[in-house]
Amino acid sequence: MKAAFVVAPRKFEIMDIEMPTITDDEMLVKVEACGVCTSDMTTYLDTYSEEMKARMKMPRRVGHEPAGTVVEVGKNIKDYKVGDRVTGILGMGCFAEYITCNPAGMPGMGRQPMVGKIPDGIPFEYAIGEPMMCLMSIARTANPELGDNVFQVGAGFMGLGVICGVASPKLKNYIVCDLEDWRLDIAKELGATTTLNPNKVNVAEEVMKITEGKGVDVAIEVVGHPPGLKMVGEVIKNNRGKIVAVGWHQAPDTYELYHWIKSPIIYSPQGIGMSIDPSSELPRAMWAIQKGIYPMEKLITHKYKLEDIGKAFEDNLGRTKGYIKGVVMPFM
Ligand SMILES: [Zn+2]
Repeated sequence: MKAAFVVAPRKFEIMDIEMPTITDDEMLVKVEACGVCTSDMTTYLDTYSEEMKARMKMPRRVGHEPAGTVVEVGKNIKDYKVGDRVTGILGMGCFAEYITCNPAGMPGMGRQPMVGKIPDGIPFEYAIGEPMMCLMSIARTANPELGDNVFQVGAGFMGLGVICGVASPKLKNYIVCDLEDWRLDIAKELGATTTLNPNKVNVAEEVMKITEGKGVDVAIEVVGHPPGLKMVGEVIKNNRGKIVAVGWHQAPDTYELYHWIKSPIIYSPQGIGMSIDPSSELPRAMWAIQKGIYPMEKLITHKYKLEDIGKAFEDNLGRTKGYIKGVVMPFM
C-alpha cells in the first residue's frame, strides 16, 4: 500500500510499504479522506524543538483527521463490521491508503474510545471527526450567555467552525477579527455581527467602542500566534470575563499577565489536538453536520490525491484566497 512520508523539511515522498496487519482488538480501515491540519505543519516544516526532533526521526508519517471504511475486523471487535464508515481519532500517520485502528482507544491517549460511525448522507471529506470534535469542545466551553458580547480572533477553518457553533441571535455582538477580508465575509455569513481587520483598524479600540468601554464577556482566540492571544487580553472585561484560548501555539512567547488577572477564566478545552469528551462529542459533531449547523461545503474547499500531498501542505501554508481547509483522498 502507499503512504506519505516527510523525508526532509518541506518534502514528501510516497512510498510503497507493507500492508499493516491487525491484532484481535484492531480493525483495518481504508482511508477515504484525511484532513490537512495546521498542527501537521510542525512535522512538515520540521519546526520541532531539538528534543522532539530526536524523537521524531525522518522519515515521518503524518495525518490525524481520517475518515474511512472498515475492511477487516479483529475477532474481539463487536461494535464494528466490514463496510462500516468510521471517523474520529483512528490512528496517527493517516496520509496513507490503510491504517489500523483500535476502537477502544489509543495507548497514550487514555485508551478512551475516540472512534464512531459516520451517519448516512455525510460524504467522507466532510466527516473528519477529529477537528469537528474539537469544535464541539470549544462551542460547549465558550457557551456565552444571553445578551453577551463575544469577541473572536481568527477566521480560518477552526475559527469559522467556532462561529458556526457559538453564534446566536441571543448574543448582543459577535465581533470577529482576521487579517483577510474574504474570510471575514464568510464569518459574517456564518453569524458574526461585526468584522474587523487589524490591517485597517485598531481592533482593541473598536471593540471597546462597540462595548461602550466595558470589554467583552467572552473572548475566543483561534490563531495560534502571539498577537491574537494579546488581543483577547486587551478586550476582555473586568470581572467574570472568559477567555477561551484554543489556537495551536507552536512557539513560546511572553505575555502581559496583567490582562488575565482582571479575572477572566482561561480555558483551553482541547487536549493535545483532541476533544475533552470524545465519546459524546463525536456523535454530537456528526449530528451537527447532518443538521446543517456546520456548512461543510463552505469549510472544506480543497481535495487532493495522495500523490499531491505536497501541494496540499503548501496550500495550507500559503493560505491563498479561497483556501479554508483541504482534505487528502487516497482513493479519489
Ligand atoms: Zn487537527
